[in-house]
Amino acid sequence: MVSQVQTLRAGAAERDLEAELEAIEERPRLSLDPSQVLDQVRGLVVQAQLLGRDDLCHRTRLVEADLLGRMGDVPAAARILHDVHTWAVTHQDPRVLVLSSLRLSLFFGQVGDYAAALEHAVLAMESVDVLVPAASIMLRFRCMMALANAYGDMGDFAAARERYADAERLSAEVPEPLAHLRLLNNVAFTELQSGDVAASAQTVTRILAHATRHDLVIDEAIRETIARIRLSTGRAAEAIEILLPIVRKADSERYDEVDSGAACLVTLAAAYRAAGDLERAETALRRCRQLCADRGLVSVDVEAQREQAEVLAAGGRFEEALAAYKDFYAASMQLNTVQRDARARVLQAMYETGEARRLGEQARELSLRDPLTGLYNRRFVDAELPLLFCRAAESGTSLSLAVVDLDHFKRINDTCSHEAGDQVLQRVAELLDARAQTLAGSFAARLGGEEFLLVMPGTGEDEAMTRMRALCQSIREHDWRPVTGAVPVTASVGVSSFRDGHDTETDLLREADALLYRSKADGRDRVTGPAVAAGYRSP
Ligand code: GH3
Ligand code: MG
Ligand code: MG
Repeated sequence: MVSQVQTLRAGAAERDLEAELEAIEERPRLSLDPSQVLDQVRGLVVQAQLLGRDDLCHRTRLVEADLLGRMGDVPAAARILHDVHTWAVTHQDPRVLVLSSLRLSLFFGQVGDYAAALEHAVLAMESVDVLVPAASIMLRFRCMMALANAYGDMGDFAAARERYADAERLSAEVPEPLAHLRLLNNVAFTELQSGDVAASAQTVTRILAHATRHDLVIDEAIRETIARIRLSTGRAAEAIEILLPIVRKADSERYDEVDSGAACLVTLAAAYRAAGDLERAETALRRCRQLCADRGLVSVDVEAQREQAEVLAAGGRFEEALAAYKDFYAASMQLNTVQRDARARVLQAMYETGEARRLGEQARELSLRDPLTGLYNRRFVDAELPLLFCRAAESGTSLSLAVVDLDHFKRINDTCSHEAGDQVLQRVAELLDARAQTLAGSFAARLGGEEFLLVMPGTGEDEAMTRMRALCQSIREHDWRPVTGAVPVTASVGVSSFRDGHDTETDLLREADALLYRSKADGRDRVTGPAVAAGYRSP
């Protein structure tokens, strides 16, 4: 009894932890100073450890890596990313694998290794297919966006555009206008990179319309994109007008604004230079470099030094310009060394062992499995069933299908808990799999929710009916008390067997489905096959 209460408490603590983690995962960029959030996140790591939830622990560590990266400790971030990614691969945890691949893609993008960024975006995309669709639309969207960004950084703008279009279709399903805004900003930025200023400007029009419709704030990153567009079309004065308010806010407490404020100051300096106001350009750069020094924004500082050289050259101060170029060159080499070191550490650990190749294979195998039950998933069924059907049709051998749906499953979720529901699904999956094991060539799959499929090659209708009645009995008689208490667990089944009227595997599946609903209508906890449905009730 006591242990049951403890289990319940632990369950509640896990749910709380998961909810808190999800909130942080989705919105790390909106948080305050990362050094403040870091303590909270490290607290979550400890909590996850205490609960023995390795997956949550590793997901939290990914957030920690993101924060450390933002605070400038790139090597520490890289080490965590590598550890977590290795864990995800070893334990075949699809969600952590998606998240770690996604972060590695961003990381490699930031340090300028665009090929590695692309590779990991592809891996994230492959792994995200393993997740239950409803739980993963947002993640899928983020993966698609990472893939598009990576293509853009590689200079493959056609591929980038295609992925952005896919991401946009996904974002129609994501109830998050802010995510759509980010997507549009990335599109605008990439179009600018590709040199298509007109397309970029068109996207900005859409950004503004979207922001108005959803009452969203046009953030610094977007305004900077707009300013860059203005600047690249020679409208320096408008660029300055857009950038000034951002720069004024740069002293605010919010870390991200300071960060983007510093980047804006470089663009502002370029705009002043274009407008011929070199004095203000220098002032902007001085402020920028001060901010960079205060906040350790190394890569922005390097950009500022390059702009400084340009400003000096524009003023005819060539000797100073040359010195500034030399400083810029040294700083950029230094930056590259830091980035290269971090990159080398991750790459060495990941690739020298041939892990990358293994990763791909594991991701593919994972993508055919349902993560909750370990059974095959719908994708596998869609690929495998046509082959089995053809074989049966050609050779005239039997093939039977059984669609299994749990009865009143919602009641279990509602009166016990969602976790209890999950456990029921796992036990039922084991019972189904045990049936499949006793028959050569047979396999069980989870079609979705609480619906399963058992495929029985070489098995005729009568034998399939007998087997499925035994399955129903084993589900009914299983000791469910530890999981559901007094709530019974039963299943309804529809069985179909290949015969002349079936043209494709879809006909076979459809018939089994229809007969399943006959089982439901007749009172549940029973098996219906074609013969039963036709009125020849077997004993
Ligand atoms: P019926 O006997 O008519 O089949 O009733 P039912 O309640 O079993 O069927 P219904 O389709 O109305 O409800 C299925 C429920 O299964 C709804 C959904 O919340 C739940 N469900 C789907 N996937 C999962 C899952 O992965 N875990 C849990 N715990 N519940 C799930
Ligand atoms: Mg059901
Ligand atoms: Mg159902």
